[in-house]
Amino acid sequence: MIKTISYLGLGTMGSGMASNLLKAGYELAVWNRSAEKCEPFARKGARVTDTPADAIRGAELVIYCLSNDQAVEEVVFGTNGVLSGINAGQIAMDMSTVLPATSLREQEAYGKRGVDFLDVPVFGSKQESADAKLWIMAAGKSDTFEKVKPVLEHLGQTVHYFGKNGNAAAMKLVGNLIVALEMEALAEGLVLAQKAGLDLNTVIEVVKAADFRSPLLVSNGQNILKRDFSPSFALKLMLKDAGLIEKFGESLESPIPALRVAGKNLASAVALGFGKENASAVIKALEKEAGVEVKARRPLGRSQVLAHKK
Ligand code: NAP
Repeated sequence: MIKTISYLGLGTMGSGMASNLLKAGYELAVWNRSAEKCEPFARKGARVTDTPADAIRGAELVIYCLSNDQAVEEVVFGTNGVLSGINAGQIAMDMSTVLPATSLREQEAYGKRGVDFLDVPVFGSKQESADAKLWIMAAGKSDTFEKVKPVLEHLGQTVHYFGKNGNAAAMKLVGNLIVALEMEALAEGLVLAQKAGLDLNTVIEVVKAADFRSPLLVSNGQNILKRDFSPSFALKLMLKDAGLIEKFGESLESPIPALRVAGKNLASAVALGFGKENASAVIKALEKEAGVEVKARRPLGRSQVLAHKK
């Protein structure tokens, strides 16, 4: 049974997961590029380290959740990186959203050192990470998956196993294709509703109730109406993922015409300076084009007409 874990990358997602591992009683070592993010973990009893190579010493399981493929390249393959210190028998697990090809490259490099590797990306955002309610996907050898499954159960509400390495990374891109299009649809829909002079509170009530409802549309819709763009999933990360989906789609000759449009709007919103805001700030690119601001004119939760079928 795994007892010692290293966690590298204490950003929005990593900090929630690392906290839950401490709560679950694992012996934890942490590392983050910006050292100040380690401080709260030191206070809670984690071993704080200076380099990835130092962090992984003695850990049965090494987990990392980093921004992008480039960050994985540096932390795993770079000087004082994970690969410079990891030994046979340890397990490595990448929870970042990266190209499946990157996961395969990691698997190959770890394999040469006798290390088993899993790609384990997640759905859910800041709140789900903090509440251990993530939706987790895992790929790699099944016996390795069985070993880490009890750890994953402390991080998420579901865990799906996808078989060979790269498949969970692929599933993450499939899911984020859907997320990007939902976000674009929400933004276009709300701008149209505003232009049409509809009551936006009632619009959200319909989005909540109708057969096209989804939690993602409701929570982002409500936040847009409150003009709350504080980041759970940063716009610049959604743009990064659109780029990954495009590359992945092209590599398989799978058509992604709508994703290209969504990607263009994400890029426009980032160019307007909203990259660090939540991904829902994609609406700001459309608002600029439309010359409107989508905003609730009265407190949310009070719609004009609410007729429920008994
Ligand atoms: P974040 O808050 O921006 O954190 C990114 C982490 O990566 C930080 O620890 C950052 O270190 C580190 N990092 C970035 N570049 C690095 C480099 N070159 N070398 C070393 N460390 C580096 O991002 P996040 O929201 O936690 O997302 C992390 C991953 O999960 C991403 O792949 C994202 O797509 C994915 N994801 C995010 C969400 C979400 O809702 N946020 C949901 C599912 C999946 P510093 O602190 O030093 O910057």
